[in-house]
Amino acid sequence: MFLSHFARTSINKHMAPLLNTEEFKNIVSGRVVFDEPLDCHTSIGVGGKADALVFPKDVKELGRITAYLNSHHIPYCAVGNWTNIIVKDNGYRGVIISLKYMRYFRWNIETDGKVFLYAQAGVKLSDMIALCMKEGFTGMEFCAGIPGSVGGAVKMNAGAYGKEIKDILETITLIDARGHAHEASRDSLRFTYRDLDLPEETVIADALFLLRKNSREEIVKRIREIMNQRKMRHPLEYPNAGSIFKNPKGSPAGEIIEAVGLKGARIGDAEISERHGNFIINLGHAKASDILELIGMVKDKVWREKSISLETEVKIIGD
Ligand SMILES: Cc1cc2nc3c(=O)[nH]c(=O)nc-3n(C[C@H](O)[C@H](O)[C@H](O)COP(=O)(O)OP(=O)(O)OC[C@H]3O[C@@H](n4cnc5c(N)ncnc54)[C@H](O)[C@@H]3O)c2cc1C
Repeated sequence: MFLSHFARTSINKHMAPLLNTEEFKNIVSGRVVFDEPLDCHTSIGVGGKADALVFPKDVKELGRITAYLNSHHIPYCAVGNWTNIIVKDNGYRGVIISLKYMRYFRWNIETDGKVFLYAQAGVKLSDMIALCMKEGFTGMEFCAGIPGSVGGAVKMNAGAYGKEIKDILETITLIDARGHAHEASRDSLRFTYRDLDLPEETVIADALFLLRKNSREEIVKRIREIMNQRKMRHPLEYPNAGSIFKNPKGSPAGEIIEAVGLKGARIGDAEISERHGNFIINLGHAKASDILELIGMVKDKVWREKSISLETEVKIIGD
């Protein structure tokens, strides 16, 4: 089984050694910043400082960085476009690896109309959607309007309109704790609703998708429809992190939250959107603690009134 390549090591975060910044700078040729505030990176606009934020420029460098951090027992976390992450107010003790600059992609069209689309983890889904509209590639329309990156979408098994990223995935490249790259086929991976189960230290470096050639007009029409629906349903004018909770079996989380009367509930500058109950919006100066308090309030009320245990979809990191 593919996952046996990976040791499920766990880093004791309370005993995390300090990062030797000079030594770390020497192993990175891309950008690295220290003591970086993260509220300007997360789509919901909250988060304290990370000890370091590093931007590997290619797969080799990504491997070098993960190997170094693992061998020094320094916690790390990979991020893409920060659209499903809440960083706590005291920040993140360790290194955040941003895949932002790993954004090379290419495609290959076969005679039977199959399209193999390769993309590094930092490629934005919106760029892939633009490519599909331009070239007439079908299969990815459901990703229109999901503001994430390829790596984030694969890790979250992002989905909408009845489809998930796993449905169009062929293979991915994973970087293990020793910095080694392994290719994994979709069938060897454990995808579930909004998650791909991977060892904590593993980073997705790239992905290969299988699409098909089709009429450009139809693809463009479908993508425009989806984008318009999203504009109407989602409070896109405010900073947010997409769906806060996973949809439990039965009804969408947003409808349950509306049914218990929590739309519009507010703590500090964090508010449960009046437009969509599963979105928390930042009205200006929300703190992560306000958002987490609102999340706790929703979970409590929904459990008390509906006996439903809501599980967060959004990832919460830091102290
Ligand atoms: C307005 C809005 C609408 C949204 N609509 C949808 C929707 O319809 N459907 C949906 O599924 N989601 C939706 N989302 C949520 C989010 O956009 C998706 O989950 C997206 O796929 C996350 O990608 P990202 O690059 O932003 O990931 P990030 O937020 O950067 O990270 C998310 C998680 O993935 C991990 N991760 C990121 N990159 C890597 C990597 N290379 N290797 C390993 N782990 C990695 C992170 O550690 C984190 O745990 C929406 C969000 C917003 C703000």
